Amino acid sequence: MSTGSRRVEVHPGREAVVEFDPDLTFECVDECTWCCTHGVLLYERDFYELAERASLDDTTTQFRGEDFVKKEAKDRDEHVGEDGEACVFLRDDGLCSLHAEHDWKPTRCSVYPLAVSVEDGDIHVDVRESAWEHCEGMNVSERKVVDNLDAFLPEVLWELDDPSSDREL
Ligand code: SF4
Ligand code: SF4
Repeated sequence: MSTGSRRVEVHPGREAVVEFDPDLTFECVDECTWCCTHGVLLYERDFYELAERASLDDTTTQFRGEDFVKKEAKDRDEHVGEDGEACVFLRDDGLCSLHAEHDWKPTRCSVYPLAVSVEDGDIHVDVRESAWEHCEGMNVSERKVVDNLDAFLPEVLWELDDPSSDREL
């Protein structure tokens, strides 16, 4: 819900228009993993970064000319979606192997639970609708999102033709 927007410098010379409540806090909850039960779009730079850490043949797939991290059926009941699948990098213990073992994850994974849109050439950032329903990390900590936007919005977003997180694929 918008409480009036404000411009925030996220990286040197890179501003975003913040639409969400500046009091919003977020901390990812280890037991949740909801956002890791979907396929993740890889921007070109993510694709090359991933290639340094994993086999692209084994972990990515193409859809309408774009690259995604694969989902796979997991042999477990926890940390899976309703279809029993989750991201290939989601380990049995609920941690992302890319993040845990390589201290890196795709841009889109950093952005969640936020939503990026573009208006008049500016990057606007709000909370994703699905996050209010599914993300357990909302308002459970002292960590204000507005003070940590560089962690959610990698600088590559300002270099993309279309950084919108809900664009049609
Ligand atoms: S939905 Fe939210 S709390 Fe759950 S894994 Fe994703 S970011 Fe973390
Ligand atoms: S790459 Fe990691 S953070 Fe992203 S969806 Fe897969 S397990 Fe989750």
